[in-house]
Amino acid sequence: MPNEINYLRISITDRCNLRCFYCTPWGGWKKLPAPEILRYEELLRLAGVAARVGLRKIRVTGGEPLVRRGAVEFIRNLHQVPGIAEVCLTTNGVLLPELGPELYATGLRHLNLSLDSLRRERYHRLTGGDRLSQVLAGIEAALALGFHPVKLNCVVLKDLNDDELCEFALLTRDLPLQVRFIEFMPTVDQPRWQRHFLPMAEVRRRLQALGPMEPVARAATAGPARIFRLPGFQGELGFISSVSDHHCPTCNRLRLTAAGYLRPCLFAAAELDLKGPLRQGADDAALGRLFREAISLKNSGAKPGGRDFPLPGRPMVSIGG
Ligand code: SAM
Repeated sequence: MPNEINYLRISITDRCNLRCFYCTPWGGWKKLPAPEILRYEELLRLAGVAARVGLRKIRVTGGEPLVRRGAVEFIRNLHQVPGIAEVCLTTNGVLLPELGPELYATGLRHLNLSLDSLRRERYHRLTGGDRLSQVLAGIEAALALGFHPVKLNCVVLKDLNDDELCEFALLTRDLPLQVRFIEFMPTVDQPRWQRHFLPMAEVRRRLQALGPMEPVARAATAGPARIFRLPGFQGELGFISSVSDHHCPTCNRLRLTAAGYLRPCLFAAAELDLKGPLRQGADDAALGRLFREAISLKNSGAKPGGRDFPLPGRPMVSIGG
């Protein structure tokens, strides 16, 4: 049976306050001129159209979504869009100590935070920002405020942070977090990817040192993570093998880029222009047809995999992770 496509990721900006090793192109990237980025009222209208074609879960991402002025207000308004059942945010957490309470007050509960090292200098090197203490304070604040679930996304990089796997997993002993290990995807540079890619099977093998893991059942709108728990631990561990075990059969998402293009698949070049029709006066029915077309294009191209994994054609910072 075809997978139900019920999840839309919206990138609200291609700006970011960090320069993560695996995300931003190493030579820099050309930022979108501000008028090319969808305005909040345009995004809210598209969210309404998306909900009517069955995309009921929305993740706000970027770039770093919290650097865009008005992001908190936008998230508040997104909760009011009829048909949207779940709103989530992916953030690097740098601005969370400051914005956490306001964000919580919007009704937002579901947070994904990116964190790739627990060591200050290494974090600085991997992200370009000496911000680990803010991020850790942000996680603490998020848990204290009552956000749930709080998921920590850790992109595993061979020889760069793979000696911290057990430390990350041990965070789930006393904290109700879901620590998710993510395979490094070749989004920017094939040689670096080949040098630093570590398959999830190897991550799991190394974590066996912590004892046997119990599988945890997944929700209907759950993504591609396989979830486990170490006995007696408060939190959970997630494993996302986007490269070694591609997710096409279970992928339930579309992506809307900051420039207003709808992407059926991260690793297929196809993009449908929504901004053009939207700004030329298309009605909701016409925009809904574009969403349906994007859904029909899912799973239609070549499957990613192996050493010839295709590049997505744009940096993640532009597409939205
Ligand atoms: N700035 C926010 C943040 O840092 O969470 C949101 C955007 S960032 C692009 C979202 C996620 O994209 C990160 O958590 C990271 O897991 C993922 N990501 C970006 N590039 C990646 C890559 N090459 N391989 C695996 N994951 C990647």
